[in-house]
Amino acid sequence: MAQSEFDVVVVGGGPGGYTAAIRAVQLGFKTAIVESERLGGICLNWGCIPSKSLLKAAEVMHMMKKSKEFGITVTGVEFDFQAVIKRSRDIAGKSEKGVQYLMKKNKIPYYAGFGYLKNHKNGILVEVREKDKVTDELISNHTIIATGSRAKSFPGMTIDGRKVLSFMESIVLDKLPESITIIGGGAIGIEFAYFWNAFGAKVTVVEMLDQTLPQEDKELSDVVSREFRKLGINVLTGTKVENITVEKTAPNSKTEKVKTKVSGKTNDTLESDIALVAVGFTGNVEHMGLEELGINVDKGFIKVDKDYITNIEGVYAIGDVNGPPWLAHVASAEGINCVEKIKGIEVPDVDYLCIPSVTFCQPQVASVGLTEKKAKELGYEIKVGRFPFSASGKARAIGETAGLVKVIFDAKYDELIGAHICGCEASEMIAELTLGKSLETTHEQIIKTVHAHPTLAEATMEAVADAYGEAINI
Ligand code: NAD
Repeated sequence: MAQSEFDVVVVGGGPGGYTAAIRAVQLGFKTAIVESERLGGICLNWGCIPSKSLLKAAEVMHMMKKSKEFGITVTGVEFDFQAVIKRSRDIAGKSEKGVQYLMKKNKIPYYAGFGYLKNHKNGILVEVREKDKVTDELISNHTIIATGSRAKSFPGMTIDGRKVLSFMESIVLDKLPESITIIGGGAIGIEFAYFWNAFGAKVTVVEMLDQTLPQEDKELSDVVSREFRKLGINVLTGTKVENITVEKTAPNSKTEKVKTKVSGKTNDTLESDIALVAVGFTGNVEHMGLEELGINVDKGFIKVDKDYITNIEGVYAIGDVNGPPWLAHVASAEGINCVEKIKGIEVPDVDYLCIPSVTFCQPQVASVGLTEKKAKELGYEIKVGRFPFSASGKARAIGETAGLVKVIFDAKYDELIGAHICGCEASEMIAELTLGKSLETTHEQIIKTVHAHPTLAEATMEAVADAYGEAINI
């Protein structure tokens, strides 16, 4: 049995794990990484990157449909759905290779297999298991668990991977179903709804809360719901999925339909070819020795302190596996923070109030900090500013006038506490406000910063000015 010693062993090669491994090497740690599936994890292989590729294809379809608005007539638009999926898979493949390259460049040994943690007199021993065989044993003082998460479901909502899918099967589904019911109006549900609708599928989104994207400011979620309805997507809010069954259309028929029983504002049984269950995540904590080691796991996630240390010395957990927010950029930030603290560097904790979140449908939704509702609940006296893209010259020029920028300031200290953008480049625009928020910007610093004209970013400046009654173009 090959046995090797390291300073740091990272279990899981997603954006949290591989980033932590690279930072560890930069800080002089002898580091190894263990990954059972594909380097890059869900984000690069099954989530963020391939889904953005599919969403771009959906945007191209929409651009074709509205080309007339630009004086261009496009006729006979056709698509090859399998080619759309293949492009996305190719991009995922390249992304995985990119991480393989980064591991080589940083001289990080990559162990392909499933990591199983055990106590060892010199720290923690990670067995690398392939099927039932142990191929390697890695001993270290610092073991970072970065095993991520997977889609969860509820009783009566079994994901069978055939008719009732999670995002994993959906991302590679290369035959477009005629009709789809999506359970959950969070980021995954909304992004897939936009994608499948663009190619002509009949899509229904069922969300039990009273707005889609419930984490977002309602004003912006309402814009998304309104734009989706214009596209023909059936958006049911305040409606809960009770159960899902798969039934044959007739006793001897080979055709099966998915029946989704819903209650609330709508009481009905929805029929569709497939269903996507997107009701949140659960951590990947099973079969890796955590129970035997006595590591605290609560409701499917590893418990950690602010330095990502578990209750067992020398064992850390970063990214999705330690609980929400389940975002790749949070995992990476936690990975870097964790390793820097292991090194003894005095770095500030990750500021969870400064984490941007983005949903990549069109119009996109991006935000950082508090919603208006949350700010009020917390007792802030607030100043709110808005600027609609319909009043932006750039947005009109590029034909993207849906949505707005909304900012929330703490009136007492003139501090930006929340920023919300719904619009075609919201994902890029949120960076300015995230930086502003982390630097505790005042309104004046933003409005006295000259923004290039004509850009969508001017809408940010105007929204901030609006909060203080100084907007010019509205
Ligand atoms: P989510 O938690 O974002 O949304 C799940 C939704 O399902 C919620 O709105 C919830 O109210 C609803 N729901 C739960 N039970 C229901 C029921 N019985 N009937 C109807 N609705 C029900 O989860 P998700 O969309 O599965 O995404 C998982 C995670 O992945 C999230 O944290 C998300 O932020 C992240 N993600 C992020 C991106 C991105 O950054 N663009 C993309 C995809 C996923």
